[in-house]
Amino acid sequence: MWDTVLIVDWSGGNDRGASPKKDAIWTGVARAGQAEDPVYHRNRQLAEAWIIQFLTDEHAAGRRVLAGFDFAFGYPAGFGRVLTGSDDPFAIWDWFAAHVQDSPKANNRFDLAGQINARFPGIGPFWGNGLARDIPDLPRKGLARHGHGIAEKRAAEQQAKGAFAVWQLSGAGAVGSQVIMGLPVLARLRQRFGADLAVWPFEPLTPPIALVEVWPSLIAKTIAATCPPGAIKDAHQVRVLAQAISALAPEDLARMLDAPGGTAEGAILGLGHVALLEQAARAPVLRNDCFALPQGVHWTPVDQALAHLRQHLPPVAGVQPQPLAAAAGQYLAQDVTALRAHPPSPNAAVDGYGFAGPAGTGAQRLTLVQGRSAAGQPYDGTIRAGQAIRILTGADLPDGVDTVVMQEDVQATDTAITFQGPLKRGANARAAGEDMAAGQIIARQGRRLTPADLGMCAAAGIGQLLVYRPLRVGILSTGDELRDPGSTIAQGQIFDANRPMLAALVHQWGHQAVDLGRAPDNRSILRGMLDQAAATCDVILTSGGASAGDEDHMSALLAGTGSLALWRVAMKPGRPLAMGLWGGRPVLGLPGNPVAAMVCALVFAHPALALMAGGDWPEPQGFTLPAAFAKTKKAGRREYLRARIRDGKAEVFASEGSGRVSGLAWAEGLVMLPDAAMTITPGDPVTYLPFGSFR
Ligand code: AMP
Ligand code: MG
Repeated sequence: MWDTVLIVDWSGGNDRGASPKKDAIWTGVARAGQAEDPVYHRNRQLAEAWIIQFLTDEHAAGRRVLAGFDFAFGYPAGFGRVLTGSDDPFAIWDWFAAHVQDSPKANNRFDLAGQINARFPGIGPFWGNGLARDIPDLPRKGLARHGHGIAEKRAAEQQAKGAFAVWQLSGAGAVGSQVIMGLPVLARLRQRFGADLAVWPFEPLTPPIALVEVWPSLIAKTIAATCPPGAIKDAHQVRVLAQAISALAPEDLARMLDAPGGTAEGAILGLGHVALLEQAARAPVLRNDCFALPQGVHWTPVDQALAHLRQHLPPVAGVQPQPLAAAAGQYLAQDVTALRAHPPSPNAAVDGYGFAGPAGTGAQRLTLVQGRSAAGQPYDGTIRAGQAIRILTGADLPDGVDTVVMQEDVQATDTAITFQGPLKRGANARAAGEDMAAGQIIARQGRRLTPADLGMCAAAGIGQLLVYRPLRVGILSTGDELRDPGSTIAQGQIFDANRPMLAALVHQWGHQAVDLGRAPDNRSILRGMLDQAAATCDVILTSGGASAGDEDHMSALLAGTGSLALWRVAMKPGRPLAMGLWGGRPVLGLPGNPVAAMVCALVFAHPALALMAGGDWPEPQGFTLPAAFAKTKKAGRREYLRARIRDGKAEVFASEGSGRVSGLAWAEGLVMLPDAAMTITPGDPVTYLPFGSFR
């Protein structure tokens, strides 16, 4: 029903400066249940311009937008009658649009509130003069008010626990200023978008843009539980609320929009449906126990560990529309439906002559019609029995033509053609829609777009695709002994081999690699780096420090969050993998040893990241080859050997030593030996997985 959800966290204050801050204006966008990064707006003027541009672009792209603003769309009953002489809520909007003066550094909201109060009997209803100077008719304290005759709260605020009254203009939690400073913006949006925009609950929501009132505190619990350490809550809450509303089942959202019916006070979307909203907000959030393998398993078989990842990891990246030409390598966030049949109409598969088939056996003679049908230049006359017309590859078949004879098989004069039959009806012609029918699903959500997919989508008339935003994968090495290659190095130190290797792998897999640097074996420094990482990355990929020893700080920190799962996978190479959540971000802790780090990255991180990037579970496609080596292996664990193909056989690196990084570079793939015991002699079949199959 709605393609895009926009949530605006509004502010009644002045310009907040260039760098993102709390208590400022934040906007969050979500599509298909996936949120984009929130956007900071330093003042209302810039925010208004941004919102107009956003709605204009969405509308131009044919997407329906539900735009939620976190301030009251109306006042308690009776207010409008005194202010404007009417009960029409839009009269209040227009009144404020005409009377509010606003600029980044100053506005007249307190004076205006005092002027409004003067129209009411007694004192009030507005209160909370936030300025140093006194303002006539605007008390500083709420208790100073009496006799103004209007209710303290709207019906919606009475129902919403903890909601503030619209009359309070200053002080912690006050919302009154936002309303006064927000309604003029909404009034201008109504003006600008006209019949393309409707406001809930005052109007039916048939147009492509809907304005609704929202209140993030409805799902305060989820917002608090999922806010990463150090993150700005205002930013986080627009993201979570946008994502939640966008993830709602259409019928649930319709129920929420259905509820209160045209009250002039306005209403709060989701009020009375908090559980549904919370559920939608939590759905894609990873649970603390998402990496916990079943109890009682000592060494977990590789397949079981993979099945666990496959079941428990949701997509975590936001989604964005992308022009077709820029979408290669990205993951589709939505099934793609052909907009047009391909081919759109019957056409010629060869250069030749078109006629009404079939043609009988033996010599055939047809009179040649003047003119021709070429690609892009169809012939618009009708071809009758006994006639033929010159036709070129890709040209529409004229009326009366269903068959084409190849020019190589024809003797032609200016007036006639002859050729040898028989020729079946439909020969050398393509039927309309024989490749793709209009309305047919041609690619599924989760597919990583190939160059051929772009060609197919273009042929089907699609200029833009909804894709997942590239997954930001932070890459962190841990260990006191590590130094960057190219720097000087002391006794006992080694170069960090894992970071460049893992970054290149992640890049190759189509994600965005974020270099988080090296962490020393120091718990508080590592904690700070993880906090930083959680604020900037979707997933954190670390190496080293993943076991349970004294210097294994990664596992110790994850244990402190209650989310650590130390995976003892029955495979070689591989020490324990440390999995967990930091600030709600999944952490995949690989072994430090470069050979183990790379093999574990290929086997586990590759499919895990693909899922979190919005993709399908990738299954590396191996093939069976004769071994060029001999080996005996024990039962109970899977082994991955550095391997390559030479002369049609799989050869393996001379040493299985897990410290040999040069063997990784020598290899072009892995030989995978199954969990059971096995004795291999040269020529025996083994499974070979080229590195290219982990992409
Ligand atoms: P750890 O898992 O931290 O106990 O490390 C296991 C082994 O891998 C140790 O010999 C480390 O020195 C080595 N190691 C850890 N991280 C890296 C790295 N980024 N590059 C090269 N070797 C590493
Ligand atoms: Mg270490």
